[in-house]
Amino acid sequence: MTKVRTRFAPSPTGYMHVGNLRTAIFEYLIAKHNDGDFILRIEDTDQERKVEGAIDFIYNTLELCNIHISEGPNNKGEYGPYIQSERIDIYKKYAEELVKMGKAYYCFCTEERLDKLRKKAEEDKVAFMYDGHCKNLSKEEIEQKIKNGEKYVIRQLMPKEGVSVYNDLVYGEIKVENRLLEDQILLKSDGYPTYNFANVIDDHLMNITHVIRGNEYIMSTPKYNLLYDAFGWEKPTYIHVAMVLGSDGQKLSKRNGDASFMDLYNDGYIPEAIINYLVMLGWSPETNDEIFSMDELIKIFDPKRINKSPAVFDIKKLNWINAHYIKKLDTEKLLSITVPHLKEAYDLSNKTDEWIKELVLIHQDHISYGKEIVEVTDLFFRENIKLNEECTTFMNQEGIENTIKVFKSEIEKIEDWTTENINNAIMSTKEKANVKGKMLYMPIRIKVSGQMHGPELPDTIHLLGKELVLNRLK
Ligand code: GLU
Repeated sequence: MTKVRTRFAPSPTGYMHVGNLRTAIFEYLIAKHNDGDFILRIEDTDQERKVEGAIDFIYNTLELCNIHISEGPNNKGEYGPYIQSERIDIYKKYAEELVKMGKAYYCFCTEERLDKLRKKAEEDKVAFMYDGHCKNLSKEEIEQKIKNGEKYVIRQLMPKEGVSVYNDLVYGEIKVENRLLEDQILLKSDGYPTYNFANVIDDHLMNITHVIRGNEYIMSTPKYNLLYDAFGWEKPTYIHVAMVLGSDGQKLSKRNGDASFMDLYNDGYIPEAIINYLVMLGWSPETNDEIFSMDELIKIFDPKRINKSPAVFDIKKLNWINAHYIKKLDTEKLLSITVPHLKEAYDLSNKTDEWIKELVLIHQDHISYGKEIVEVTDLFFRENIKLNEECTTFMNQEGIENTIKVFKSEIEKIEDWTTENINNAIMSTKEKANVKGKMLYMPIRIKVSGQMHGPELPDTIHLLGKELVLNRLK
């Protein structure tokens, strides 16, 4: 049996939004489910979009996500180079071969001519399509033009009749009338290939068996298949996946600043949780379970269960999954995703490491992501607390003043400031003020923390410290 080989083929933009990352995960899962290889290929033929350090950035991202690359620019492999700009000669050779076979042709049309065609199409309200002007040039004419230094591109010659059909694993049968296929550019005038050409050459030469990519390519795939046919190459299995949309219903992109993996990571989201969330976004397992480790996903992933319709990136759902992972973190890991944010937000210079650790630990079950620690611990750093309407209304109830008075005197008596003694003070207040449940805990909580919710009350009071608590009880 042929070894399954998938590839992740990002452009080096120095940025990875979650939609891109999800494609990489799908590719990885399909490869690993079948004991296959996962290849990283850098698609940098659009030199204008290239960003310094972008390849390292991609490696870092995948490494953080525990996605192991079998072959790629920084790995060894038999099918390199894995960076398209280092493969220019290869594309040129194959493009010229296609010309010889009569499946492609040189086109010398100038930008001005093409602009005119575009304008005309606009006026006629039809989609622009190159008119095949250069396809019948004679060999002599071509040679002369090249000699004159005229710029040219190589275009694929499309059949004008018939229908192209292929099967997509997710979308089923896809049919396109050949007359709708444009004589697309394969090789640009700067000698670089287009995506439309390079993807085919590379996927074939790199022995890629499954092509998983965004469904914006679904209607172009018949053109790619014509190239495979022209060369007599075996076509890969196609798995097109629907887009991930932003909450505004628009495609995720750097422009709308949406959901970049690194932003999430830097805010203290756990890569395993991001992966878990992303896989469930546009794919569903056979069961109703929602939490899966990478190993479990590898075991159960079936691409046939990928969704056809676009998914909306929902930060609330991600928060829910991430909170689940945070609850399970060990202390060291938990500190590493929270303390940097605390340091940035608050002055911790007079706090001991012990105090900081306790602060973080009592909030472990109360945060959805690392940076959220800043909001939820605000009450420990605020000078003055200001009650909202709900709290004020609660505090205006009869008997509350007395509860606070009793509690204050119990607190004053404490010599050894431990959580246990604080708990005892609460219990004596219960007796002496003759209150219980909500009427016992809530007034104390509101008075010392300024809010109605939070971690365990004795823990909170302990961390606040005796002085501050007495101050607030005044
Ligand atoms: N470079 C393409 C992109 O970023 C890759 C598409 C593909 O996987 O073939 O969309």
